[in-house]
Amino acid sequence: MKLALTVPLGATETATGFASRLACRNNSQFVQDFVQDMGITWQSVISGDAEALSVLAELGGIEMSDLERCSFRRAAGRARRLGGEIVPIRMLRVTNQRVCPLCLAQDGPVPAAGSVLWQFEPVLACPEHAVALVELPASKFPRSPYDLSGRILDHRRMIDAAAMRPRPMAVTAFERYFAARALGAEHPPTWLDQFNVSIVWRASESLGVRIRHGTRARADSLSDQELSAALDAGFKVLAAGPHALHAAMKTSRENQSIDVGGFYTEFVMFARFLQKLEKTNETKPLLDAVRDFIERTYPIGDGEDVMGRPCAQRHVHSVQTASREFGVDWIRMQRLFQAIADTPGHLGLPAPTAHLWVQADAWSPWLRRYARALNPKKAAKRLGLKTGPFTRMVKSGILQPVASLPGLVDRFDPVEIDALLARLFERAKPVDQLEPDMAMALTAHARCGQDLIPISIDQNS
Ligand SMILES: [Zn+2]
Repeated sequence: MKLALTVPLGATETATGFASRLACRNNSQFVQDFVQDMGITWQSVISGDAEALSVLAELGGIEMSDLERCSFRRAAGRARRLGGEIVPIRMLRVTNQRVCPLCLAQDGPVPAAGSVLWQFEPVLACPEHAVALVELPASKFPRSPYDLSGRILDHRRMIDAAAMRPRPMAVTAFERYFAARALGAEHPPTWLDQFNVSIVWRASESLGVRIRHGTRARADSLSDQELSAALDAGFKVLAAGPHALHAAMKTSRENQSIDVGGFYTEFVMFARFLQKLEKTNETKPLLDAVRDFIERTYPIGDGEDVMGRPCAQRHVHSVQTASREFGVDWIRMQRLFQAIADTPGHLGLPAPTAHLWVQADAWSPWLRRYARALNPKKAAKRLGLKTGPFTRMVKSGILQPVASLPGLVDRFDPVEIDALLARLFERAKPVDQLEPDMAMALTAHARCGQDLIPISIDQNS
């Protein structure tokens, strides 16, 4: 039976909001008393019970489907369902309900319709007025926290004062996206559509806080304006896809003020959020996007755990990991990496990072060669030379060191030494004693002295 005194349903009004306005319209001070008089419990309206909502729709003279559109229903656990979205309870504002002072700025005994969007933690601005929502003081028993109109009337003066001096706040890309999903409206498709809306929120916020406010920032220490800007920044990056996410994280690392060198210390909030994220098929694409970045950025070896996924391939070496893998002691490897960093372009290898990290694929063949290389004493011995002639030979350019870096002893590749020896032996004839012309021949070939090896080379060979 339709009531004699009704109110029109707002475009994005919840069942509890509508019931509370019906109660006001019918001069009932507390909505729970009003609905009880109508034969339904307040709790059943809060739960979105279909029977209760149908009674409410009939009383208000509206379509049940219209009332259901912006009304929460119970979902598994403590979650709520709104249209096609499952909303975890921590995403909802109840005692800390916010309202738009401009939407409510009108005289009359019944407040204007509220919006379901005001009940969401990440919604900070009114989508219609682009002003900051204001938080209502907590309700006092017997006022139900869900009795929106009752609470508005309790704090009418505060809301009117806020309406006199509204704080402008831009409606962010995140809020537009969020509203479209929460209200089941059309929006440009993004890969984020596959994730629960609360995951998009938490990911955008934790990433955005890092991007906008640095490594040490925390969401709860930011103003609403700062948080809104962070959410917007994080969302825009994420919405553009894994490639944009990688690029933004790379830039953030390059711009960071502290030099810590680890994903969990460099992306504190974002890392913590991902760490706690349930590892399911739903969350896999997001986790994989970050895991790929971690593997490409940090010195992680094959098989090591990267947020629950074993690393498929090492992309980066640090001094420590290279020292372990190539069997060169830590101090020597450190000096080598530093010397290479100090002489950019010298070896044609990509420069090490500030942490002295290097790209494994580009560096590994060279490091393997360096690791087996001999110091000049051992190299000379392998050639059967004394130090003096060996030095002259190196100066002549016949034998090149693997690396010749400032402050470091040259190293020689034993494979090259053996190849050089083989070439010399091929063209050499054994002699008992060096003749002057043989020495000359040798000098012409090598310009490095007659006692090169105990075999000399014939001029005509
Ligand atoms: Zn508004």
